[in-house]
Amino acid sequence: MENNQLVSIANRFGSPVFVYDAHRIISQYDRLTKAFAKVDQLRINYAVKALSNVSILKLMKELGSGLDTVSIQEVLLGLEAGFEPQRIIFTPNGVSLEEIIEVAHMGVQINIDNLSILEQFGTQFPKIPVCIRINPHVMAGGNSNISVGHIDSKFGISIHQMPHLLRIVENTGMHINGIHMHTGSDILDIDVFLYAAEILFNAAKNFTNLEFIDFGSGFKVPYKKDDIETNIEELGERLTERFLAFEKEYGRSLTLTFEPGKFLVSQAGYFVAKVNVVKQTTSTIFAGIDSGFNHLIRPMFYGSYHHIENISNPDGKERFYSVVGYICETDTFANNRRITEIKEGDLLCFHNAGAYCFSMASNYNSRFRPAEVLWYEGKAHLIRKRETMKDLLKNQVVLDFSLQEANVV
Ligand SMILES: *Cc1c(COP(=O)(O)O)cnc(C)c1O
Repeated sequence: MENNQLVSIANRFGSPVFVYDAHRIISQYDRLTKAFAKVDQLRINYAVKALSNVSILKLMKELGSGLDTVSIQEVLLGLEAGFEPQRIIFTPNGVSLEEIIEVAHMGVQINIDNLSILEQFGTQFPKIPVCIRINPHVMAGGNSNISVGHIDSKFGISIHQMPHLLRIVENTGMHINGIHMHTGSDILDIDVFLYAAEILFNAAKNFTNLEFIDFGSGFKVPYKKDDIETNIEELGERLTERFLAFEKEYGRSLTLTFEPGKFLVSQAGYFVAKVNVVKQTTSTIFAGIDSGFNHLIRPMFYGSYHHIENISNPDGKERFYSVVGYICETDTFANNRRITEIKEGDLLCFHNAGAYCFSMASNYNSRFRPAEVLWYEGKAHLIRKRETMKDLLKNQVVLDFSLQEANVV
């Protein structure tokens, strides 16, 4: 998006504000589907947790996407957005059997990632088809917080537990209709990904009536200039070829499924915040903005890099800044960052603010969560209002201590 569009959105809706460019989401979706155009049945299930605004979910529905969900609440948001339950897959980790049963009864495809729940679910509901999440133990990314396929990971059923898994399936008579893996967040090496896929194909041969194979996500998007990203086109070409060969070998046609979050929405997002104070110390210049890790926690949580631009003074001379928040904790967005000269009142724009930004926001320091705006067909649409005091107080039960009654525990 153009700087002047972002500035006018911040002027109109206030700061800080999240802005999402619908056209970028659409073009990412198209890019992914084009890369796999030769697959007969391709299914994209957008990972709701990346950005769960209902208007974004509706946009995904318009594009033909399904949804990947990790909680019953995300399922309900998907239904609210108008998705048919059959277009939703539930891929939770560590949730209760009761929650899984409730979601299954809504008609949502469930994906089970441990043998204990698989055995209990299969015993009670042998007729409900189930997808299984396999952990192929392939280290896809570098960061162990976001790589979930390795040996110590809590995600998935270990590929080495296949004999036990098969025994459960046989004993319960349950129907496995899909097989799934989600190795981590960053696929940089397509050979590594294809190696994990090969493990999944081998596992798939144990089941005669599969309808789909779900390769999860892990598409890496660039955060910095010159950052490596997953080569979707190469992945498309190579995995398609292997998938088509596997279908022949397997003897029936299958749906190839992906569940991208970041890839679809990260680059579409901009977070615009205002500089409250420029503070020169003996060691640096701090630019303190009207936000903090309550709104954008990735830099502090994962050490993630978000490109920051001064959109009020894009052509100014560059200086080095530490960009920090207004939260009473250390909340550094960037250290020693080269940014065009910053004055108090300037608007800073954080790039790649679509995925895992608003959806991780909180009310810490009793601050309101920001507004969200969708840029669509040349217009700015408010898709979430900024919170107010009413929102902060909504669920609080205020005790009256003047009535010395039994209700004061
Ligand atoms: C988080 C998650 C995704 C999405 O991951 P991205 O890196 O955002 O694409 C997909 N599948 C599952 C099971 C997930 O938990």
